[in-house]
Parts: sequence; C-alpha cells; structure tokens
Amino acid sequence: MEQILCNQQITASADPQILGSEDDEPPDNYALTPLQYTGLSPFSRSESTIVPFPIHRTVRISPTSTKFRRRFFPGISSKEWNSWQWQVSHRIRHAKQIRAMLNLSPDEEQALDHIGDRLPLGVTPYYMSLLDANDPNQGLRRSVIPTIHELTQGVGEADDPLGEEAQSPIPGLIHRYPDRVLFLVHDFCSTYCRYCTRSRVVGHGAVFPDKKRFERILDYIATHPAIRDVILSGGDPLLLSDERLEWLLSRLRQIPHVEMIRIGTKVPAVLPQRITPHLVRMLRRYHPVWMSLHFTHPDECTPETARACNMLADAGIPLGSQTVLLKGINDNVPTMKQLMHGLIKMRVRPYYLYQCDPISGSAHFRTPVDKGLEIISGLRGHTSGYAVPTFVIDAPGGGGKIPLMPNAVIDRDEQGLTLRNYQKRTFRYPEMC
Ligand code: SF4
Repeated sequence: MEQILCNQQITASADPQILGSEDDEPPDNYALTPLQYTGLSPFSRSESTIVPFPIHRTVRISPTSTKFRRRFFPGISSKEWNSWQWQVSHRIRHAKQIRAMLNLSPDEEQALDHIGDRLPLGVTPYYMSLLDANDPNQGLRRSVIPTIHELTQGVGEADDPLGEEAQSPIPGLIHRYPDRVLFLVHDFCSTYCRYCTRSRVVGHGAVFPDKKRFERILDYIATHPAIRDVILSGGDPLLLSDERLEWLLSRLRQIPHVEMIRIGTKVPAVLPQRITPHLVRMLRRYHPVWMSLHFTHPDECTPETARACNMLADAGIPLGSQTVLLKGINDNVPTMKQLMHGLIKMRVRPYYLYQCDPISGSAHFRTPVDKGLEIISGLRGHTSGYAVPTFVIDAPGGGGKIPLMPNAVIDRDEQGLTLRNYQKRTFRYPEMC
C-alpha cells in the first residue's frame, strides 16, 4: 500500500508556471522549540539563564510528520520533504490516496464518490500528516476532507455570497472599498479548505498568473489614485514562484499611491516549507509588506509553522491572522483561546474572526451569530487584548465587513452610561455635557 501511494504522488500535477526553481533550504537555526523559561522573576534572570530564541538545531520535521513520512513516503528524504515544490507536486488529490491514509466515515466516503467538480480536493503531505487517521471529527480533518453535506444547498446560500463578481471591474480584481483592492493572482492553493468563500473560483484552473491580465490590473490601480492598499489573494499568492511574485511586487511598488501591499495566505499553516530564506529576503525589499495569515485550529501551531512565522516576522513583515468560525472545529472558547495564544506565541496578531459566509453547501460549518459573540465575551478581559480578534460578518451582497461586539452598554441617560465589564459587573461612566 505504501509503495502504491508513493508512486501515485509522482503523477500528481504541479503547474511549472507557478512553481519556481529549487529554493535554498531553511537554515538549521530557524528550527525551533519554545523559549525555555527559568522560573525566575523577569527582573532577576540574567541572559545566561535564558535559552535564546531560536535554539534548537535539529528539529526540522516534527515527530508526527516524520512518522507519517516514513509510513507513506518511505523513500523520501527530509530534504525532499522540506522542499515546498516537492510538497506541492505530491499533494494528496485522489480518493484512493485518501482511503489509504485515513479510515473514512460514511459521510466522507459518500463525498469522495460524489464530489465531482465542486471545490477540488488537495492536501499537502505535510498537512495530511497532521490529520487524525481515525477521527473524522478532528478539526483539521473536517476542514480539508469533504463530507456529503457539501452537496446540500441550504437556505440563503450562494456560490458568490459576497457579491464579488458584481464588484469586479477586471477579471481577478475586486474593488469594494474606495482605497483598497483585492488582486486575485491565480486560483491555485496547495490545500483546499472545504468552507472556502471563493470555492466558485479556486482550483478550477480558470484564473492564471497571466502577464496580460496582470498588466490590465496594474493599469487599473495606477489610474485610480485613491487606491492605497493592494491585497494579493487568490488562490494563494505564495504559490507563485519567487521570480513572479517579485515581478508583481516591484511593479506595484512603482505606483506611487500604493502605500501598503498585503498578502493573504494560508501557506504558513499548510505549507510552511514555502517560507524560505530566499523568499523572505525578496519580500523585505518591498516594504511595507503585511501578511494576513489564515489559521483555523490550534493544531496548526506546529514547530514548522512557528519557524515559518518567525522568519516572516524577523523580516519585518507584520503578521495578522484571519480565522473562520466553524461549527465543531473551533466554536468554543477553550479551542479559540488556545489558537489565539498559539498565534501570539508565533508573533501573529489575531486580526479577524469571521462569521462563516453562506456559501453553497456550508450549513454544516455555520454557527449561529451568537456563538461568535459568546466567544468574544469569553476572550475579552479573560486574556491579553492583543489575543482578541475582531468578530466580523462579511455582509452578503458586497456590504463589506461589519464588526460585532457583545453589548457592553446596558443603559444610557443624560448623565452617563451604565457599562458591563468582562466579569458582568456594572459601572457608571459620566457623560460629557
Ligand atoms: S487557502 Fe484560502 S483561498 Fe485557498 S481554499 Fe483555503 S480559504 Fe480558499
């Protein structure tokens, strides 16, 4: 079985236009373990009592992934495993491979039989190594392995719930807010999330990193001086080769009114091998570059991902996270708190918690809106403010992100406000006359 799997990987397709040449290997000193604390007061510890970060020179592949690699890719060296091109070209894409790696539930089995051309299937070997082979309810597994529920269209669901097509002046460009645009560089991801808002587009091979299309979009941005913030998205922009990505960044940097470039990516969670020294050296030439990283569950905070995030942070790239609230995956306070704390430890600032968009076939992922408010109540005041994301609904029909907060103002009169704190105690604040 293992040999069959290994041979199947070799036939998995990789787009040579997207993949670049072999990047250099990450240096050993980026392999890491958490800081080791001494237990002394921060005021009494000396430098010699703290093991500096990063410290570990041998952990290159976490034990879980090593076990998986040895079992399913027995001839593959750690160097190959650590190559992002190898990971992409060996993505697990076929039902036969998944059946060999996971004990499938009836819901998953039926999905693999019927999923057809809907959101494509793809999981990097690295991410697959994090899945629980025997638990179909494990958070990470539910987020990437289809179930039959995807095929049920619920009330109010749509393929393009955010109305992106209506706000697209050029294919692959969404201009919703006056000063920002979303630039879809291509429709390719290394791993496909089953709840993807853009499932109508991603993985269908219709949006290419085509120079002519890029030039049209660059012209549009150049002739709209109000645009000061460009968000590269897709698909995953970090699946472009370093050369193509650099070409795009350099062209954007030639437009004087583009102040900020953001890259939206799930790569550090699903393909941390992509964050190479060569990539971060290139990115830092185009500052200010920010990144919006997509995380779902604390199980994604592995040593490999921490290493990737630290390399990006060391390159001066501010990192924010975006998390979709998903039923049965992260819809409780302890899981969400663990995720937010994991992100902070990786130097990623929790940015948005999204109410799941009503995309077609998403009912099994969506929670009541109150669940998001309950989670924010369970975080705000109970942990560092930096660890509390903003809960938003991306308004169906293209209304943009609308923040929601638990109601803290319980009464208001001419003299002032009655406010409720995180302990549910009430306080008066005098209003200005
Ligand atoms: S990584 Fe982003 S664009 Fe790709 S499938 Fe997941 S949610 Fe969609």
